[in-house]
This record gives sequence, C-alpha cells and structure tokens, in this order.
Amino acid sequence: MQKLSDFKDDINKCSKCGLCQSVCPVYKITGNDCAVSRGKFVMLDGVLKGDLKLSKNIEKYLDLCLKCGKCTNFCPSAIDVCKIFETAKYEYAKNTFLGKFIFFLQSKYIFGNFIKIFKIITIPFRKKHKSKPDSKLKVLYFKGCVNNLCPRTDNYIRKIFKNSNIEIIEKDFDCCGQPFLSSGNLERFEEVKQHNLKMLDCDFDYLLTDCASCESTLKQYMDANFISLGELILKENIKFKFPKPLKVTFHKPCHLENDDFLEPLLKNCENIEYIKMENYDDCCGFAGEFAIKNNKISREISSKKAENILKTEADYVITTCPACILGLYQGLAGKKNPPEPVSLTDFLAKAEIK
Ligand code: SF4
Ligand code: SF4
Repeated sequence: MQKLSDFKDDINKCSKCGLCQSVCPVYKITGNDCAVSRGKFVMLDGVLKGDLKLSKNIEKYLDLCLKCGKCTNFCPSAIDVCKIFETAKYEYAKNTFLGKFIFFLQSKYIFGNFIKIFKIITIPFRKKHKSKPDSKLKVLYFKGCVNNLCPRTDNYIRKIFKNSNIEIIEKDFDCCGQPFLSSGNLERFEEVKQHNLKMLDCDFDYLLTDCASCESTLKQYMDANFISLGELILKENIKFKFPKPLKVTFHKPCHLENDDFLEPLLKNCENIEYIKMENYDDCCGFAGEFAIKNNKISREISSKKAENILKTEADYVITTCPACILGLYQGLAGKKNPPEPVSLTDFLAKAEIK
C-alpha cells in the first residue's frame, strides 16, 4: 500500500498555476483555496516537510472534495489528486476513533454481510437467468451495490436484452470499492480489489457496467474490455418505442468517460426528443460522504445544476450513476414542475422494445 511520502514528487509537480480553480465545483461555490487541489497540496507539502501535522483540520479540507477528478483532467501536470487525498485521508483516519469505527462499519462483516443478505432476500424478485449457450457475445455483468440491494434495474436489463443474442454472466463481485476510497479505507479497498480480480477468471467478451462510478473505479485495477450499458444497447442496435412524446435531457456524471453512445441511442427511441442542457457535465454535487459532511455546499452545487435542468423543460433527466440521481433529486427538490431523475436503464425499460 502506498504512503503519502510516496507522492512527494507528485505534490511538488504542482506549479501553483491555479488552473484547477476554474473547474473545481467546490472552489466555484466557496472561493476557498483549501477546497481545491492547489491549496490541499500546500498543506500536504507542509505535512511531508514536518511543518504541519495531519490533523482534524487538514482532514476537514481533504473531505471538502467531490473526488470528481475535474482538476486532474485539467491540470497541466496531470497530477492524480484523488489518489493523493485518499492516501492522506487513510494515514489520518486509521489512527482516530471515528476513522476506525467507519472502517469497521465498512468491513466485510458489516457492510459486506449487509449486501450479501440483500442479495439472498431479493432472489425471489429477480428474473431467472436464461442460459444462452449459442450466444454471439458473452458479457460479464458487474451489478454494483445499488442493484444488489434493489432488483428492479437488474430485471430491466434482462428485459432490454431479451431478444438479443447475449449471454449475461453473473459472478459474486464485491463492491467496486469507491465508497472505501472516499473514506480513505485503503485496506478494505485492497480487499475488494483482490476479490473482484478473481471474478474475472472466466470466458467473457466484455465487462458490462451500468454505473459510471463503478466503471471508473474498476478501471483503476482491472484490465478488461469494458462496455457500458448504453454502449452495449447501441452495439446491439436495439430500438425503443415510447407510448407518448417525451422530452428528455441528460446529466453526464463526472466519472463517465465517454457519452458518445447517448445521441445515437436516443435517435433509436421513437417519440423521444433530446434537449442538451447547458453545462450538462457539471457535477451534481452529491458524491456520497461529501453530501453528508458538506451538506450546505452540496445543496448549492445541486441547486445550480437544477437551474440548467429546468431550462430544458424536459420530462425526464437521464443519468448513469445512482449517486447522481440522488444529487439531481436534491437539486430539484421544491422546484416547480421538475423533470424526474431516472437511470438510463429504468428509462429505456418504460418503452416497448423492438
Ligand atoms: S492545475 Fe495542477 S499544477 Fe496547477 S495549481 Fe492546480 S494542481 Fe497545481
Ligand atoms: S477532485 Fe473535484 S472537487 Fe476535488 S479538488 Fe478536484 S475539482 Fe475540486
């Protein structure tokens, strides 16, 4: 496991140019340099030089980050800021009472068993998997924690591909590890990583995900041929007919690398008009722990997002991450005639599949 001191050179690569300020959603709201990577690097440099101690105050600023990665994508030095913040967080949290308690709650005994129990009790509500031995394409489906808790999306995926010659393979994957990274629980992250890597030991063409955050986390440690649900639907040329005309818009999750599938896929949907919203890739402001620890800022970011959504006058705002759906609901709460936030899978399952 890497230590904060291993990132000394990366931290020193920061030229303090301040370009990250122009893309950081938290900086845009707070105007606080400690909210953005540059300010955090100044503090962490002080820690590495022994001038500062990793303290509750520094942890507060490490938590003041959505882990959206926008600064990394924009940084001329291409510094992987999230990795550095997660490592610093781990070094602080592992020695505190609260940190140890959160790590215990995230352990395989508590969080792991909680998901396992849900997997078992939802079995009767899940459509039976029909084996298609002559299928052209074998996809290994990474279901993710939300779909393990709730069988609806899982069933919808089977409905969407019912006429396709696809074999959907299921394995006993653990969580992708994103919530553990956010809390700095690097030990638990390593545990799920090792478990998930073992699940790849089977014959498959693509690793299918329907959550942008899961996919982006898995890509940190898996060398596989990834395909998102939208990309697979497009590849299979599945067409949809909605019973009445609807206007839709799309929120691009920060962790969704590629949304090239979206417009061609929506063109395959009869009765659907797509309206691209202004700044459609602006963060929704949720990001799990961030929404709890920095609730006021989280709400402000969500509310800014909601203003652009409302301008489209859409009936639905589609996205591909369950956490973003919560952020969209947070922003649209109390607004007049808001569109309904919905996952791509749940939205397409409302149509007749042709
Ligand atoms: S953009 Fe990169 S190099 Fe510039 S201040 Fe931000 S973190 Fe440092
Ligand atoms: S990851 Fe996102 S929220 Fe965190 S510092 Fe970078 S731009 Fe700001």
